[in-house]
Amino acid sequence: MSIFSDEDKVKVLSDIIEIQTINDNEIEVAQYFQQLFNNYDIESKIINVEGSNTRANLVAEIGSGSPVLGVSGHMDVVTTGDRDSWNYEPFKLTEDEDGNLHGRGSADMKSGTAALALALIEIKEAGTLNNGTIRFMATAGEEITSSGAETFYKQGYMNDVDALLIAEPSQDGPVYTHKGTMDIRVTSKGKSAHSSMPELGFNAINPLADFIHYLNEAYSKVDVKSDILGTPTMNGTVINGGDQVNSIPDHAEALFNMRTIPDFDNEDFEKLFNQIKERVEQAKGVQLSVEPYVNRVPVYTTANNKLIKDTQSFAQTFFNKEFNLTSTTATTDASFFMKDKDEDFSFVMFGPGDPGQAHQVDEYVSKTVYTQFVDFYTELFPKYLNR
Ligand SMILES: [Zn+2]
Repeated sequence: MSIFSDEDKVKVLSDIIEIQTINDNEIEVAQYFQQLFNNYDIESKIINVEGSNTRANLVAEIGSGSPVLGVSGHMDVVTTGDRDSWNYEPFKLTEDEDGNLHGRGSADMKSGTAALALALIEIKEAGTLNNGTIRFMATAGEEITSSGAETFYKQGYMNDVDALLIAEPSQDGPVYTHKGTMDIRVTSKGKSAHSSMPELGFNAINPLADFIHYLNEAYSKVDVKSDILGTPTMNGTVINGGDQVNSIPDHAEALFNMRTIPDFDNEDFEKLFNQIKERVEQAKGVQLSVEPYVNRVPVYTTANNKLIKDTQSFAQTFFNKEFNLTSTTATTDASFFMKDKDEDFSFVMFGPGDPGQAHQVDEYVSKTVYTQFVDFYTELFPKYLNR
């Protein structure tokens, strides 16, 4: 007997979509889940993130001892984008005639996080877990820096975790590897002066222009490719400097976004940037700084473990269709959760929602898929942990 009907499941998703968590305010969703867990005597703890009163993680556990299965989803969402192009209210879950539930975060990924929370309660109430622990970790800040996952990692919540499932939207196939991401800010410092007397100042733009030129030249010679993840990418995407046409600029900066793979990872990019910095700084007076401000490493596993095999085979039975193991170019909280884990670690990303729906206008998740995932997790987790 299930505790939650499909209507109950949709109500929970609807409630947390109404709580707006655009890169902030995750604490209200954490409090909502805490209240829900309290109703079923599941203890949970709210952990503040980024020294903020409004950004918080939530952790809850059932069972005891090892092995520990970590299950995780994030509570933040991205902005609505162009609000006028939405056909639905972004923060009110709305069902269309095809049975799709629309709202910001419906796919990415309040449906996944809600499905995990509901499954935790179902398993506790059914008493079906007789070995090990399920640790539910809901995070803040996934969409920008993964600050919530970083907090869990730093506070030791991953130390005893033997296997990790992340419920990001991937309903068409369990994911076992993904790219990393990195943002670097390069700043050039100069000295302002009137443009008629440039010798009294130092132009910050020129060294930055050299930097960009040398960087692109060096990167064009990087020739690496992973069979599964493809090539890394590097793009200069923002540039700023100076503020008046007849003043020598004392400041210029450029931002770069990278997508990384294990064969050319975040450290390799940082090294490359620092080599170029040294080269440009050989000229007199140049002062550059290289500052990585988003740093999420790629996640690679061999996919040769019980968690991913159990997930794939039970999914085929449960959903009655073929599932291939796959990869994604997106990045998840696993970049921080798995910082100390190696390629043999048991990791899978598998959750409700089509990955193409993430960050879209009129974002949706299928009602059937979402409600089925609650039941899928409810059966999968004890099946994986029980001896
Ligand atoms: Zn997501």
